[in-house]
Amino acid sequence: MARYTEAKCKHCRRESEKLYLKGDRCFSDKCAFERRPYAPGEQGESRRGDSEYANQLREKQKVRKMYRLMENQFHNYFKKAERQRGVTGTNFLRLLETRLDNVVLRAGFALSRDQARQFVNHGHVLVNGRKADIPSREMKEGDEFSIKDSSRKKEFFKQIKDKNSEYTPPEWLSADMEKAEGTVIRMPEREDIEHPINEQLIVEYYSL
Ligand code: SF4
Repeated sequence: MARYTEAKCKHCRRESEKLYLKGDRCFSDKCAFERRPYAPGEQGESRRGDSEYANQLREKQKVRKMYRLMENQFHNYFKKAERQRGVTGTNFLRLLETRLDNVVLRAGFALSRDQARQFVNHGHVLVNGRKADIPSREMKEGDEFSIKDSSRKKEFFKQIKDKNSEYTPPEWLSADMEKAEGTVIRMPEREDIEHPINEQLIVEYYSL
C-alpha cells in the first residue's frame, strides 16, 4: 500500500500553514513551522507562482495532506461528492470528516490522524459494538464508537486522556473521554470544519 514517507513537518512548511500532523508537538514550541515558517530549501522568500492553477493545486495538496490521503483516494472522494446531491465542496469535506479515523481524532481519542488511523488499523476501535478496523469507514448519523475496553486501560490511552483533558469535540459529535465512547449526533455541516479550507479551489482544480 502506498504511504506517505515525507517528513510530516515538511508538509506544513511546504503549504505555508500548520496542518497539525504531529499531535501535541504541533501545539508546542518544537513545531518546525513556528521555527522555520518557509518552504524547505528556501530562506523566507516564496518561490511559488500565484497563478490560479497554482493556488488550486496548493489548496488541493494541503487538504489531501491534512487528511493523510493518497491522490487516488482523495480524488475518489471528490468524484463521490460530485455524484451526491447538494454542494460538491461541502459534500466533499463531509466525506472526509466522517471517515472513522477522523471521527476518532475529532472525538479526542487520538492526538493526530496518523495515530487515530493506527488505532483503527490495530483493532482498538469499535463501531456500534463491533470491531471496526477500516479507517476509511464512513460514519453515519447515530453511529456509536468507542475504544475497546482492554485498550482504554492501556498507558497510551491514559496519556491521550490526560493531554486532551481540556479538549472539546465539534458539535456534531458527542464524546465521553472517561468511557472512551461517543456518538455521531448528526452529519457535519460546512461551518463545523474550523480549519481554514477553500474547498472551491479544489472543486475548480478537479473541474479543469
Ligand atoms: Fe506541522 Fe508544526 Fe505539527 Fe510539524 S509540529 S506537523 S510543522 S504543525
